[in-house]
Amino acid sequence: MAIHDHQACVAHAVAAAERVCERHGARLTELRRRVLELVWTRHQPITAYELLDLLKADHRSAAPPTVYRALEFLLEQGLIHRIEALNAFIGCPDPERLHRGGYFLICNRCRSVEEIRDNAPLREAIRTAAASRGFAASSSMIEMQGLCRECSGGGSA
Ligand SMILES: [Zn+2]
Ligand SMILES: [Zn+2]
Ligand SMILES: [Zn+2]
Repeated sequence: MAIHDHQACVAHAVAAAERVCERHGARLTELRRRVLELVWTRHQPITAYELLDLLKADHRSAAPPTVYRALEFLLEQGLIHRIEALNAFIGCPDPERLHRGGYFLICNRCRSVEEIRDNAPLREAIRTAAASRGFAASSSMIEMQGLCRECSGGGSA
């Protein structure tokens, strides 16, 4: 992902999380907020064990269940997504617009993941295809793998 003001990304994510939790009547505890910030360390998926290592820097007693419970909460609130192909987690850039699942572009070289946010036509096409087979979908998730713009040399250069 191109160079940008990443502090602003993290601040935006935390502010959005506070609004989402308040609306849901859920409590964004200090630990849950910290795990969310750590998921947002970079625009790349991060595994539970990488999170645990980072969390231990300021929560020395943190254990795997600590991280899993926080991740479970963040997933439930729609603040992060799980990337199944990588068994890792990524922050949602648009958690205030409720969506289950998501559509992701995964770069095999730099491991960046981009969520396709304007996905209404995609969602509708998949819903229609599922419904025509009598399938009642509760969520949908697409993970496309390939090379991002920077890695495929198609950048602004
Ligand atoms: Zn950023
Ligand atoms: Zn999302
Ligand atoms: Zn890339």
